[in-house]
Amino acid sequence: MVRGKTIVVGGGAAGLMAAGRAAQRGSDVLLLEKMEQKGRKIGISGKGRCNVTNSAELPEFMTHFGKNGKFLRQCFQQYFSQELLTFFQEANLPLSLERGGRYFPESGRALDVVKVFHNWLEREKVDFRKRSHVSRIVVKDGSVTGVVCNNIIIETDNVILATGGQSYPRTGSSGDGYKLAGKVGHTITQLRPALVPLSSSDPSLASLKGLDLRNIEVRLFIDGKKKGQDFGELSFTPHGLSGATILSLSEQVVVAIDQGKQISISLDLKPALDEKKLNARLLRDLETRRGESIESILRGLLPKEFIAVCLNACDIPVAIDTSNFPAKMRKKLVHWFKDIRFEISGYRSWSEAIVTSGGISLKEIDPKTMESKLIKGLFIAGELLDLHADTGGFNLQAAFSTGWLAGSSVR
Ligand SMILES: Cc1cc2nc3c(=O)[nH]c(=O)nc-3n(C[C@H](O)[C@H](O)[C@H](O)COP(=O)(O)OP(=O)(O)OC[C@H]3O[C@@H](n4cnc5c(N)ncnc54)[C@H](O)[C@@H]3O)c2cc1C
Repeated sequence: MVRGKTIVVGGGAAGLMAAGRAAQRGSDVLLLEKMEQKGRKIGISGKGRCNVTNSAELPEFMTHFGKNGKFLRQCFQQYFSQELLTFFQEANLPLSLERGGRYFPESGRALDVVKVFHNWLEREKVDFRKRSHVSRIVVKDGSVTGVVCNNIIIETDNVILATGGQSYPRTGSSGDGYKLAGKVGHTITQLRPALVPLSSSDPSLASLKGLDLRNIEVRLFIDGKKKGQDFGELSFTPHGLSGATILSLSEQVVVAIDQGKQISISLDLKPALDEKKLNARLLRDLETRRGESIESILRGLLPKEFIAVCLNACDIPVAIDTSNFPAKMRKKLVHWFKDIRFEISGYRSWSEAIVTSGGISLKEIDPKTMESKLIKGLFIAGELLDLHADTGGFNLQAAFSTGWLAGSSVR
């Protein structure tokens, strides 16, 4: 079926999928990308390996988007992980399933994902223009009529806006879409960096930076009250804390910090042992390794970077006689293992946030088509929408699915 002309603004995950799909459905497609290359964020995603989606079933999948996740139900009913896996399979990109239901290209190269889209768009004869900065959507009588690109008006029947969020602006997604949509009447909800590392000025970070921990429990305290917890990985950075557990707790932290609340993070280095069992383990170590230095005994329980921090926090002298280790000190030690506190002073900037929280209000978008309820012929896809999820491949699936639906819906 021959359709009208479609301009896709932004060559990221959502825009690439939207452009290919609209062309496949018979539209004459022009893809405008302001950077030199398409898919730059895909290229750095998943630490350069690109976690394209997740094996979770639909009901669980949607929970990873928080309360706004229900908006995606109809979209996912049409294009979900199974369809995406088939798409990559047909494009000869084998994927492998990893821990936590995460799918990655078997090659381990995110750029292979970009290549799949590049080849598909060429086959579908999408006209791709790089260094093409869109600065305005032209609307007449409630319908889209064109865009202003590099100061020139280009006329069109449909515009799919897929300019991404505001995080990692060096990849091209610097928040332009919020201004473009705002200017034509859309509401933009509060924008905040999400999945973002946290800052701390705790002096112990000097010796801990670069250390990665696994299988630990992380608890979040806001104004002294426990407000969340997560289990898994944590990394110490030169500025504070990062890693999967911290990123997933960061959303609550960002809001609380903006409200002037006090934040602390507590680590339990031995979540599999309660205080009683840990105490018994320490007693046994002190008994069987009688006479060894406390540093040597702790080495069996802690990463080496943590030893000085531990002794300092528990006021244990390095030269203590371990054959006469005071019970009071042992208790303190056990307690420390289960509750190591870091005061959080802030969160890192947009340049380190994985996604944007907030975006174009979902109330103004038709979830069956991704078309704007305010302007005919304007479709919105990807992170630009007021949607974001946990890590695990959920964000890219949402970008691909909303892009596919927008591309399927153009007239
Ligand atoms: C470091 C990092 C790692 C990540 N890893 C993963 C992962 O492994 N799995 C996962 O699911 N999610 C991951 N994400 C999140 C995921 O990459 C994004 O949610 C997703 O790429 C959003 O896709 P998008 O198409 O909406 O936007 P983007 O991919 O950001 O694409 C937007 C495009 O629009 C272009 N553009 C912007 N403004 C204009 C304009 N005015 N004119 C023309 N073009 C414009 C930009 O240059 C860009 O190419 C990661 C994010 C980051 C930052």
